[in-house]
Amino acid sequence: MNRLVIKFGGSSVATIDKIKAVAKVIIDRKKDYEQIVVVVSAMGKTTNGLIQMANDLSAYPAEREMDMLLATGEMVSASLLSIYLQSIGEKSVALTGFQAGFETIGSHQVSKISNVITDRLIKELNDGKIVVVTGFQGMNENGDFTTLGRGGSDTSAVAIAAVLKARCEILTDVNGIYTVDPRIRKTAKKIDYISYQETMEMANLGAKVIEPRSVEMALRYDVPLFIGLNTGDLNGTNIIKEEDIVEQNIITNISNKNDVLLVKIFKKGSNEFGISEALKQLAQNDINIDMINRIVEENEVSYKITTNLVSKNKTKQVLDEMGLDCEFKENLSKVSIIGSAMRNQVGVAARAFDILSKESVPFYEVSTSEISISYLVDESKSNKLVNAFADEFNL
Ligand code: ASP
Ligand code: MG
Repeated sequence: MNRLVIKFGGSSVATIDKIKAVAKVIIDRKKDYEQIVVVVSAMGKTTNGLIQMANDLSAYPAEREMDMLLATGEMVSASLLSIYLQSIGEKSVALTGFQAGFETIGSHQVSKISNVITDRLIKELNDGKIVVVTGFQGMNENGDFTTLGRGGSDTSAVAIAAVLKARCEILTDVNGIYTVDPRIRKTAKKIDYISYQETMEMANLGAKVIEPRSVEMALRYDVPLFIGLNTGDLNGTNIIKEEDIVEQNIITNISNKNDVLLVKIFKKGSNEFGISEALKQLAQNDINIDMINRIVEENEVSYKITTNLVSKNKTKQVLDEMGLDCEFKENLSKVSIIGSAMRNQVGVAARAFDILSKESVPFYEVSTSEISISYLVDESKSNKLVNAFADEFNL
C-alpha cells in the first residue's frame, strides 16, 4: 500500500487561508499516494498562548491539566482542516491522539509514545478518507491526555509513518535543511541528501528545523523522511541512510545554539565535594546538563557545566540548598561543526582549532562526538566563527 504521512507545523496552519492552502497540497499529493494521513500542530503560536494563560492563573499549574489544555490546540487545527476538506468534497476525518491510537508512558508534558494502535487509522484510510490527526498528544494508562514535549508533532508524524510503513514529509516554512543557518550566512546551501545521524546531531546541537526525537525514531524504524516547503514543492531535503549518500563533504553542517549558561560549581575552602550528588539533584529538577569539565587549581577542585540560560535560577537554588558555591557566565553560544565523514578523516580538529586562533575567537569549553566538534564561545563572536568555519569547509 502506497501511503504518505504529511506533517504541517503551526506556522503552516496559522490562519484560515493557510489551512485552505495546505488542503490544496494534500489533495495534490493524492495523485501519487493511495492513502494519506495528515498530522497538524496547533495554529500559529497557540500553544505558547495557552501556556501563558495557565501561568497567569497559577504559579504551579498541574501537569495533568496542562496536558489537557495544550491538547486542545491541535484539536482546533485538525478539526478545522478536516471541516474544510469535507467542504470541498473530500472524504476526511479528524482524530485526536487517543482516537488515532497513541498510547503513552512517562510524565505529563514529556510523555513518550509506547504504542500506536492502528485499527482506527487503517479503518478510516480503507474507507477512503484523508485522516487528519492531532500532533503532540496521546493518552496514558489512566486515560488522561498527555503531550510529547514541545515540538512533539514531528514525533507523532514519524510514529504514524513507522506503524503504517509510510513515507513522512515534514512541511514547513523553510525549504529544507541548510549547511548553515541562512540568517547567519546568506550564501548557505540547501542540502539535498543528509543522513539520519547528522540530522539528529544538528537538531541536538541547535538547528531548529526538526525535533531530534523524531529523527531518532525515523532511523530506528527506517522511515523515509523529507523536509520541505508547505507549498508541496518536492525540492527539499531527504533524510536517508548514511550508506546511501553518494557524495559527501567532510563537514555537512554548522550549527549554533545560543543562550548557553556556563556554571562553575565549587565549595569554598574544600578541595573535593560530591559532584555526582549535585548532578543528581540538578537532574531531579529537570535541569539539562550538557558539557562537563573538572578543573584542579592549586588546592581547589571545581566543575564547569553548561545548561540553558532558562535554568539559571533553578540551578542556583539547587546548588544553594546543597551548600555549594557557584559562578555563572552568560551570553555564550555553542558552535558546532558536524559531519559523518569525520569518523574516518584525520585533521579536522586541527583545521578547526586553527580557525579559532586565526580569527582570535577565545573558547571556554570544547566537546566532541564521533561526528561533531563543539566550541563554547561568546555569543558576540559566534556568527563570525560560524562564517569562518563555513569558509574553511566550503559550506
Ligand atoms: N504545538 C506544540 C508546540 O508548540 C507541538 C508542535 O508544534 O509540534 O510545541
Ligand atoms: Mg513545531
